[in-house]
Amino acid sequence: MSTQEELILKNAKELSKRFAERAQRVDKQGVFPSENLRELSENGYFAAFLPKPYGLGLPASLFVEVVQEFAKACASTAWLYVVHCAAAHSLYTCGSEEQKQRFLSKVSTGTLMGLAATETTTGAGISGMETVATKKEDGYALNGTKSFITAAHGGELFIVIARLADSKEQFPKNLSAFIVEKGTSGFLTGQRFESMGMRGIGWGELVFRECVVPKENVIQDGVRAINSGGHLGMLGASAISLALSKAAFEVCKTHVKTRTISGQALGQREGVRALLSEMSSDIEAMNQVIKFGVDAFQRDSYPDLLKVKNFVTESCLRVLDKALRITGAHGYSTLLPIERYYRDARAPLLHFQTLELGKNVLGSILQT
Ligand SMILES: Cc1cc2nc3c(=O)[nH]c(=O)nc-3n(C[C@H](O)[C@H](O)[C@H](O)COP(=O)(O)OP(=O)(O)OC[C@H]3O[C@@H](n4cnc5c(N)ncnc54)[C@H](O)[C@@H]3O)c2cc1C
Repeated sequence: MSTQEELILKNAKELSKRFAERAQRVDKQGVFPSENLRELSENGYFAAFLPKPYGLGLPASLFVEVVQEFAKACASTAWLYVVHCAAAHSLYTCGSEEQKQRFLSKVSTGTLMGLAATETTTGAGISGMETVATKKEDGYALNGTKSFITAAHGGELFIVIARLADSKEQFPKNLSAFIVEKGTSGFLTGQRFESMGMRGIGWGELVFRECVVPKENVIQDGVRAINSGGHLGMLGASAISLALSKAAFEVCKTHVKTRTISGQALGQREGVRALLSEMSSDIEAMNQVIKFGVDAFQRDSYPDLLKVKNFVTESCLRVLDKALRITGAHGYSTLLPIERYYRDARAPLLHFQTLELGKNVLGSILQT
């Protein structure tokens, strides 16, 4: 690790101490963590992983470390950060030179991004997308509603995927991406969703009513825009799952020493030791698989990223289940943060490809 990378990681740990203090409020009240995001941008984290000349061009190996620090403290903040980085990566990879120059300087200095593909009617499969883009003289008019979007409330700049109304192409070639700023006429924020976990992510709907997007803001290849951002998102979501597993393990280690039953520390019980041992093996395996994930991201290997995300997000549930068994009523209650970790850990199973669809797709690729 270079001196600069060490500094970025050290500072992430420092910032995370403050995020941890605010995490309960973010979770309990569903507060959007604006203060955390402001501190992230002020400390250079919005620029850290954007390639040069727009950002610092730091490596994916550091990205997973930094995301883990944030996630151990406040998973909602880490999730917003991952989604932002994924959307920015998509813009960097698929945008024209002019688009990058126009938008990425803002993005690297604090404009929060999101990526909007999902609709209630289409869900996990995007082939039936109903948001349409109709060609106008100087651009496209967007009409439709995007659902379950991270930072719908709180985000400022979105990559929106829509079906081209006049396209003769079949799916997926009939999809394009549109760079849309909040404040554009016809771009509204819809309902906000209450959720079991990740309660601070400003989760909601984006509504488009004759929203005219200039042709300069169009990214022709919509699927490439989803995938390029999605690949970084898969890595980031996996890092969040690993961090939640590690955080739960640390809580358990302390709990088994301090909790006594009939005068004996919980950690003296054979069954509890076995659970701790299984958790630590799972976490070590996840650690190694994430390293493979960093390599897969650099090679842009979608099948390998699927292996990583499927394995890590599912293993996390196994680890958290054991954490709940070890800590009993304490873990089930809000006396310990494990119940929050468990609720937060469901999200990485659902976005940047659901676990089921991820396995379905990988199983199909493996047969070719
Ligand atoms: C916390 C969170 C944040 C999100 N943020 C965003 C965002 O920023 N932008 C965005 O575009 N979307 C976002 N999403 C939406 C997410 O991508 C969708 O939830 C996901 O695509 C699945 O859609 P659905 O929930 O409607 O499930 P459905 O499509 O209704 O599917 C229901 C279940 O069936 C399973 N299933 C579906 N098809 C198959 C199949 N072929 N084989 C096996 N199982 C299948 C799915 O895995 C799922 O578990 C977010 C979701 C969550 C939970």
